[in-house]
Amino acid sequence: MNKDWSEKNRKMQSLIGKGASFREGIDVLIDLRSDLFGQITSIVNTYPAEAFSQMPFAGAEGYHSKTLAYSMWHIFRIEDIVAQTLIRQNSQVLFSGGWLEKTKSPIITTGNELQGEKIASFSERLDIKGLFGYCKAVMEATNTLLGSLEFRDLKRKFTDADKVRLIDSKCVSEDENAFWLIDYWCGKDVQGLIRMPFSRHWIMHIEAMCRIKNKLCRMARKGVDPAAYCGLSCDHCFLKDWCGGCRTAYNTCSYATCSPGGVCPNAVCCKGEGLDGCWECAFLPGCRKGFYETPDVNAVKAMALFIRKHGKKELAAVLDRLHRQYDFQKIQEILGEDLAEGLRILEENR
Ligand code: SF4
Ligand code: SF4
Repeated sequence: MNKDWSEKNRKMQSLIGKGASFREGIDVLIDLRSDLFGQITSIVNTYPAEAFSQMPFAGAEGYHSKTLAYSMWHIFRIEDIVAQTLIRQNSQVLFSGGWLEKTKSPIITTGNELQGEKIASFSERLDIKGLFGYCKAVMEATNTLLGSLEFRDLKRKFTDADKVRLIDSKCVSEDENAFWLIDYWCGKDVQGLIRMPFSRHWIMHIEAMCRIKNKLCRMARKGVDPAAYCGLSCDHCFLKDWCGGCRTAYNTCSYATCSPGGVCPNAVCCKGEGLDGCWECAFLPGCRKGFYETPDVNAVKAMALFIRKHGKKELAAVLDRLHRQYDFQKIQEILGEDLAEGLRILEENR
């Protein structure tokens, strides 16, 4: 489990267990949920629509065998049902916010009843922006609920009438893979629900989402030229778990994510000019586009100039050598900000 998330989760659990620190515990929980939701936001903002229905671990045991879209739906359907129908006895966000139409979901259940291909075809039908909006609305509604709880509410237990209400809502499938949820939730008190659907359940599924997106990036990179248009090397990049490379649909490099259409200016320019990379461009030395915009990324331009002189394979070999010698993430840490000095270091390590 991610160390930061697991520590925050442990801290929250301990704090909410005592009246004096209960409020602080809720604040830690909301903070943890915000961190976790940040992962979902990054994935939704940067990955192509096709990514959300892929099952790169199909058939595996575990949450990572699902899709990104299913994971989002499942986390927040469960939370919506538990927070609104079970605890608040209120209308679920899915219905009160018109999210069923906006998500285009063919089901109102948690999705536990779906297996294999059915998960992929369900995911394909979802509107991802609508789904993201739903997830956010559920998170906010639950945060409001959490903020309104008092320490004495934690011991509240659930009754047969609560079970009947859940069954009548038809939001939990009668399939044996789903129906057990009703007994499971109703067997807990409010504190138990905070410890699972509102926290740990998020962590487990969001960690699975991270495994899925890492694998999708690796799959996207397979067989694709690892030389980025700007001169960076995708094979040596510290963002490999998030970015499939600028020659793929999984391009989430820093300049791509803040540029129109999610493509970095160097990639747009090279493609427009029919160039393999900026190293083929006559304007490279004076260019100020994208990665060459600020002086502190002269390291990237140094690499493009190095490719122009020696080729991509030679640069990859130099980068292999540098990574064996030094512990670093960004190449700027080694090549510095001065173009001539960066080139000198690359030449020295040929
Ligand atoms: S951030 Fe740039 S160098 Fe890194 S993997 Fe993505 S495209 Fe390649
Ligand atoms: S003008 Fe700049 S961004 Fe465009 S191909 Fe040339 S070096 Fe690359």
